Amino acid sequence: MKVKCFSTHSFEERYLTKWAQTYKLDIDFLSTSLNKDVVSLAKGYDCISCWPSDDLGKEVLESLHEFGVKMISLRSAGFSHLDLAKAKELGMTITRVPSYSPEAIAEHTLGLLMCLNRKYLKAFQRVRDFNFTLEGLEGVNIHGKTVGVVGTGQIGEAFARIMKGMGCSLLLNDKVENTELAKEIDAKYVDLETLLSQSDIISLHCPLNESTRYLINSKNIDLIKPSAFLLNTGRGGLIDTKALIDKLKKREIKGVGLDVYEHEENVFFKDHSDMGLSDELLLRLMSFPNVLITSHQAFFTKEALDNIAKTSLENINNFFHQKENLKENRLS
Ligand code: NAD
Repeated sequence: MKVKCFSTHSFEERYLTKWAQTYKLDIDFLSTSLNKDVVSLAKGYDCISCWPSDDLGKEVLESLHEFGVKMISLRSAGFSHLDLAKAKELGMTITRVPSYSPEAIAEHTLGLLMCLNRKYLKAFQRVRDFNFTLEGLEGVNIHGKTVGVVGTGQIGEAFARIMKGMGCSLLLNDKVENTELAKEIDAKYVDLETLLSQSDIISLHCPLNESTRYLINSKNIDLIKPSAFLLNTGRGGLIDTKALIDKLKKREIKGVGLDVYEHEENVFFKDHSDMGLSDELLLRLMSFPNVLITSHQAFFTKEALDNIAKTSLENINNFFHQKENLKENRLS
């Protein structure tokens, strides 16, 4: 089986190599991201493996189909970079990795919160500078606070359980209520407006789609208390960045922790240290001392990388040998 692996990062290659040996797959690694200019590189391959930065829009899918690529194995859970309707129309098989380690993302979300609240980065720099003063480092107890979790799927549930363990009260919001979870952690489901206005910590864990784009927007952002923290490890497009910047300018939010950003595709996962940034919105966001941004690294643990490599290559093996095993990993 010949597989072309687009957007291969050095950090995932050893995991992919390990599982390729297990499944006896012949993989060619390529660091280049897939787009219409380089799609011809997929010629001669039965299958391609893709990362969220790869363009799987209509035009690219049509070319892949023309070149005889039968299957696309996504190395991600999210698929907002894919034209699923087109893939279905072309009869292409697409698989994803629906779950690889919800705890990795939930734990990173807690990390963002703790860094913002207890100002660890400032404290680290200060102590390295032999400045052992405490002024400006004051935080609040997380214990006893109200945490609002939007999207109570795998990651939202893991985060809610962590916060319950820290002694918080939980408010939940989802289209589909997980009544068992609510009962176990003594939480209640509320509408988004109630969650935004009553939570001390708000964390977004729903997928990005047409119903969730700008879930936090200029109309509802002022419901968030000035003393509250807003965390987003879901997708950048869940927040209208301009509305968030306006709220930050008014100093009406305590802290913002973001692992994702609305226009991250041109910036994240790349080194811009020589060139600087041209994204004005991101630059403005980064200018606030109470905004902490990480570059979509919430998933980035050894366990998650191993699971992504294993499942994405297992999907390829199943497609060619045991299609019935693809089950819920199959998008089309
Ligand atoms: P999941 O499918 O298990 O859960 C998503 C939940 O969101 C579901 O319960 C769904 O009903 C709910 N939802 C959908 N629309 C909603 C709406 N309008 N309002 C409220 N809830 C809504 O997915 P998951 O594995 O928990 O992942 C959640 C998201 O986290 C992914 O879609 C992805 O965008 C993001 N993610 C980020 C990283 C990272 O590294 N930062 C890694 C993996 C996933």
